[in-house]
Amino acid sequence: MTPDPSDRRGPLARRGLLVRLLAVSVLVSVCSIAATAWLVVRSTTVAIRQEEGQALAEDARAYRALLGWAATHTTWDGARDTVVRLAHQIGHRVTLTTEDRRVVLDSDSGPVSLPATPTAVVEPLAVDTALAGGSPSDRIDPRVTGPFRLPRAERTRLRVAAEQQALCLRQSFSATAQVVEGPSGRPYVESPTLNPTLAARCASPVLDGLTPTERKALRHLTGLVNACLERRGAPPVTLGLDFTWTPVPAPAPAGGRASGPSAQPPAASVPSCIATGRHEQLAPYVAPSVLLFVSSRGAGASTIVDLSPTGQARIAGVVALVLAVTVGVTVLAGVRLVRPLRALTHAARQMADGDVSARVEVAGGDEIGRLADAFNAMARRREQLEELRKDMVSDVAHELRTPLSNIRGWLEATEDGLVAPDRALMSSLLEEAALLQHVVDDLQDLAVADAGELTLHRRPMYVHELLDQVATAHRGGADGTGVHLSVEVEGEPSVAADPVRLRQAVGNLVSNAVRHTPPGGRVALRAREEGADLVIEVADTGVGISPEDLPLVFERFWRVEKSRSRRTGGSGLGLPIVRKLVEAHGGSVSAASVPGEGSVFTIRLPVHS
Ligand code: ADP
Repeated sequence: MTPDPSDRRGPLARRGLLVRLLAVSVLVSVCSIAATAWLVVRSTTVAIRQEEGQALAEDARAYRALLGWAATHTTWDGARDTVVRLAHQIGHRVTLTTEDRRVVLDSDSGPVSLPATPTAVVEPLAVDTALAGGSPSDRIDPRVTGPFRLPRAERTRLRVAAEQQALCLRQSFSATAQVVEGPSGRPYVESPTLNPTLAARCASPVLDGLTPTERKALRHLTGLVNACLERRGAPPVTLGLDFTWTPVPAPAPAGGRASGPSAQPPAASVPSCIATGRHEQLAPYVAPSVLLFVSSRGAGASTIVDLSPTGQARIAGVVALVLAVTVGVTVLAGVRLVRPLRALTHAARQMADGDVSARVEVAGGDEIGRLADAFNAMARRREQLEELRKDMVSDVAHELRTPLSNIRGWLEATEDGLVAPDRALMSSLLEEAALLQHVVDDLQDLAVADAGELTLHRRPMYVHELLDQVATAHRGGADGTGVHLSVEVEGEPSVAADPVRLRQAVGNLVSNAVRHTPPGGRVALRAREEGADLVIEVADTGVGISPEDLPLVFERFWRVEKSRSRRTGGSGLGLPIVRKLVEAHGGSVSAASVPGEGSVFTIRLPVHS
């Protein structure tokens, strides 16, 4: 067998289809993974951002609320209800711990796994302004009032004065004015629309002055601040209730000169000393500083993958797995696809090399299965044609050899003087030449028909007339062998056909029938119209044809008994010629037979073709 040329190429080229299939499916899966990942990342990012924003708002809310408690209580005892309520409101677990992470308060029961960093440090004297809002310079929560908190009596006195001031403002200027209470319990009048100069007319000395509590607290604070300033070598100051400061006027110098401008303390020291002083003064009034943890309720995160290194490795693993499965499935599918194609290619090459018996195995009814099926059908047909061609050549040689060798034998014998060239010899030679002529004419007819060059000269004619002509032509021969020939026509059918060719076709059938019918038998030529068809039958009561031979009678050079038929003048080409002639008229011919009883050959022609 010739080597498969594809085997000489590299393994990549040999697996071309498989590699391409693999490349396509890997490309498709990479694209789909990338697209999916992009979509997921996009939507997750948006979701995370929203969640982060919400989480920040919740953290700030919790922080502010706890800061409020710390600013107004000296201990966390009793804050549990506040913490539980807060946790319920924000939907998260709220835990407070000391600096060394011992739990002080927890909204939920059960063990808590604290995050690495706390959400915030709850320390009202050092407020995280990023979370709580407010000015970054003053980090003391305004709710921490400590010693400035007014007792009820002072508060009531001030409130009365405030109510009077508000009434004065409302009545004198028809202004909106209302009394609001500050964190220390000191009331003040809020009148957003009123001009401050006009408001001064309703001024109240009680409201503007300090209460004894405030005076005491402020004195204490001033002491602390001035001590601080002194440590830093700065002159003392006096403080207002709103922690504004003014320098203390310097004592008159010994020379009796008027008091000059007071010495200005370095501006930077005062605010920091005020902060330190306030811190020192308020520290005993606030709850101890705690760490705040706002964590999700229940067991940890519920996602399978996150963006941690482990999560990323897991994502990479899943992607690799998907790709591996894709590659595996594609290779499997590709191998299954390529294997029958290669078998087909191999078989086709075998056929090209002349092995007409090459076939492929048909597996399944898919496209490739059907292709293999079609290939096998084509191979079978080719094998048949090849056999037919071989048979035909040998048959033609055989057919021609016998009469030729007869003629040569007679001529050699005459040349040698063994036979006299008399009349009998001449008629023998003539008979052999006629047989040769017959075979050659038949072959010619077939060749013309095969080439599609059979030209028909159609004209309308009566079928009865045609059958009578054929019967008359064969009657002599039939009478000679004692066979009765009859013509039976129903109605007056007519057809447009080539009279010579149609006569030749029916003549061949009648000649066969007469030859294969023993003496005393009958041959009937019948004709009738059946629907749109004209049916011509040649029926005999002859030897018949066996069922296994029947499908072969229209093959070229096929004869039941070769020697006998040749002797009776048959070439094995009569029936193939009949079929060609009938098909040229657009009709068909078939045979039916019962061995020992006779045969019926039927020609069907379309009446109007
Ligand atoms: P041939 O020239 O040998 O008759 P045909 O092609 O006409 O060749 O016929 C092929 C073979 O079919 C014949 O050799 C014969 O064996 C068989 N055959 C044809 N017609 C009949 C028939 N009417 N009765 C029996 N056998 C027949």
